[in-house]
Amino acid sequence: MAHVTAHDDVPELTLPTLTVKAGRPANEPDQPLNVPLTMASTYVAGGETEYGRYGNATWAAFESAIGALEGGRAISFASGMAAISTLFDLVAPGETVVAARHCYQGTLVQLASLERRGLVKVVLVDIDDTAQVLAALGEEVGLLWVESPTNPALEVADLPALCAGARAAGVTAVVDNTFATPMLQRPLELGADVVVHAATKYISGHSDALIGVVVTGDDEIFRAVDEKRRTMGALPGTLEAWLALRGLRTLHLRVERAQSNARELVRRLRTHPRVDRVRYPDFGAVVAIEVAGGGMAADLVTHSTRLWVHATSLGGVESSLERRRRWKSESQTIPEGLIRMSVGIEDVEDLWRDLALALDTVPG
Ligand SMILES: *Cc1c(COP(=O)(O)O)cnc(C)c1O
Repeated sequence: MAHVTAHDDVPELTLPTLTVKAGRPANEPDQPLNVPLTMASTYVAGGETEYGRYGNATWAAFESAIGALEGGRAISFASGMAAISTLFDLVAPGETVVAARHCYQGTLVQLASLERRGLVKVVLVDIDDTAQVLAALGEEVGLLWVESPTNPALEVADLPALCAGARAAGVTAVVDNTFATPMLQRPLELGADVVVHAATKYISGHSDALIGVVVTGDDEIFRAVDEKRRTMGALPGTLEAWLALRGLRTLHLRVERAQSNARELVRRLRTHPRVDRVRYPDFGAVVAIEVAGGGMAADLVTHSTRLWVHATSLGGVESSLERRRRWKSESQTIPEGLIRMSVGIEDVEDLWRDLALALDTVPG
């Protein structure tokens, strides 16, 4: 287990301990154990914060915890998309963004909109084809946008090779680490310049808050992102930051349990007669299956479960699933019958029974 230097009073802590310990108020008499909700739009003049758009103690606690886990400085936003859009706003006009073809839909929609307005050029690549990605990194490229595993194709990128290639080409490498979480993958250690999270998902973990975060070890990027947040104002809610930090405290346990559930379900799904294909990168808790019989069969499954919730999003304690192509904006390269499953932390036998009954509704 990698040891991480915490900035607080305890020097060497492992990741599971950091999830519990990082971002606490000082260990002093009468300090609360948890950061309070600081509800403030303005502050008495003369200090460092001054105004509610510039900083907040509750955000800062959450950011310090995520920063410790990812190994950089973190800055939080109103949502994952607010964090992502802010990073796109740092690309110089006319520069090219090289992005994973199967990255998050909102990311692709936002890139397409920037391209239509002539602000950037976009080149989509198969992120698991390292040679193809490296070949796309020319002089005109400002940003390499990596997601790994991808959503919902679950391709895995060779992060060290891509980040090294980006560095050599003078391209800023960003990794959307939402699916893996810092418990399973720490992109800054693998050479990335920036990590972004939809903390809405695993980090918060309870499907009750939208929040995003950017983490970087680069002071210049940090300053630019902070300035964008101050001026564009895509601020996290104070309650959301508090909820995300509360959720984060069990991230290591949730990821461990959800991953072990996912592995067991994948083992069984691989031999199920109604399942044509199982996509699973062997880590994490998002699984995609292709149901025999295509879109209609997949709809039957998603409407037949009783324990698994039919819902979009992922990373909550509860298991959920959806057919991705029900969204008009989903990539045409994603099969009609693909169901993305976010495996939660319930008892795996209960999950399997419910899923197997739903799969049985598909005519053989
Ligand atoms: C959900 C998600 C986002 C967007 O996050 P929001 O908080 O919904 O704005 C970005 N990237 C990935 C991989 C996601 O799953």
